[in-house]
Amino acid sequence: MAGSWLLAVILAPFIGSFLGVLIRRLPEGRPVATGRSVCESCGRPLDARDLVPLGSYLAFGGRCRTCRAPIGFFHFAVELAALTVALWAVAAEADPVRLWADCVLGWTLLALAWIDWQHFRLPDVLTLPLVLLGLGATAILQPADLVDHAAGAVAGYLAFRAIGAAYRRLRGREGLGQGDAKLLAAAGAWVGVASLPMVALVAALTGLTLAGLWRLGGRAMTATTRLPFGPCLAFALWIVWLYRLPPSF
Ligand SMILES: [Zn+2]
Repeated sequence: MAGSWLLAVILAPFIGSFLGVLIRRLPEGRPVATGRSVCESCGRPLDARDLVPLGSYLAFGGRCRTCRAPIGFFHFAVELAALTVALWAVAAEADPVRLWADCVLGWTLLALAWIDWQHFRLPDVLTLPLVLLGLGATAILQPADLVDHAAGAVAGYLAFRAIGAAYRRLRGREGLGQGDAKLLAAAGAWVGVASLPMVALVAALTGLTLAGLWRLGGRAMTATTRLPFGPCLAFALWIVWLYRLPPSF
């Protein structure tokens, strides 16, 4: 079964290449069905040699083969991040079937976190399928827990909506987005209702760490500074799922 691990690592940069297109186009409402097709600088149609994930960027020194214009580091970074997700899963996972669930979850969370970081948005087109994927993974890997995980999805959504509504009443502005509620619903579907407090705890600690780093980096933080919570939630779900963190305190 070592093939599973190898395949995941080989596939990862190609998935990353697709995620890069997704991250760029979803927030702009552009179709994602086609990949990158032309050099953004000289308009030359890209061929297979230009589109080898990771490899093209390294081989051509991060420049267009024709016009030598620097190619954004972005696609290379996403491909590298997707590979990191796969390598992390391979390092942590003993079960070859669960490995694929790890990768699907990790890659989807990567796209969500990246988009939220840049646009303060968690697109439904990613969060809602992630709820279904979580229930699907549960049905295959631990069918006895399906009801518990379905309850987790509902509880995650309602808990965030309730906190959001309370925050709105207290402060008179939005604190948590609907996207965050749907992502927590996905978390419930993946790890079950009993693990949700752990997801919330890890996410909160991640947010505090990020805010601390932000301040150290010299950026002003006030009570109204917007910090995207999606990446914190995504990281928390990844950790709780991958390491099967204790279901309760
Ligand atoms: Zn060019």
